[in-house]
Amino acid sequence: MAADDGPFDCDSCETAVPLDDARRTETMGGLDATKWQTLCCPHCGARLKTVYVGD
Ligand SMILES: [Zn+2]
Repeated sequence: MAADDGPFDCDSCETAVPLDDARRTETMGGLDATKWQTLCCPHCGARLKTVYVGD
């Protein structure tokens, strides 16, 4: 699975968030944090997408 480089549409505040602006957090549920990160909206904090960042 290739990394998705956005932008990501936030359903909560209807903003398109570029990848560089998204807040990155560890995923829930025990996924490997070196491979998976959850992107969150920098404006409202809503979860945007879980992306694969490993190679
Ligand atoms: Zn938002």
